[in-house]
Amino acid sequence: MLWSVNQFKYKVEIIPDNPNPDNLRKDIIYVVGEKRFVKWAYMKCPCGCNESIMLSLNKNSFPSWTVKQDKLGRATISPSVNRLEGCRSHFLIKKGKLIWTQSFW
Ligand SMILES: [Zn+2]
Repeated sequence: MLWSVNQFKYKVEIIPDNPNPDNLRKDIIYVVGEKRFVKWAYMKCPCGCNESIMLSLNKNSFPSWTVKQDKLGRATISPSVNRLEGCRSHFLIKKGKLIWTQSFW
């Protein structure tokens, strides 16, 4: 089965400075930094609670995440994002698609 372009939901946007959390778009993962050195990723929580999620991309800190973008601009975040507060959402972004994960908490 072939995916159509319209099904790619999440894209990556690299920005130089921290975004205003109130202006985050739902379908964009904002990576703060530059291509060779990225610090943070910001995104809106996909559950609809309207909170922004900040992920550390700094490999020297724990926990930290990796955000990748393929040739079509589709975002992949690894490992999964598990919010320990608020809505406690647990999800994966893989090739631009949102995948809800069973929470073990
Ligand atoms: Zn949420």
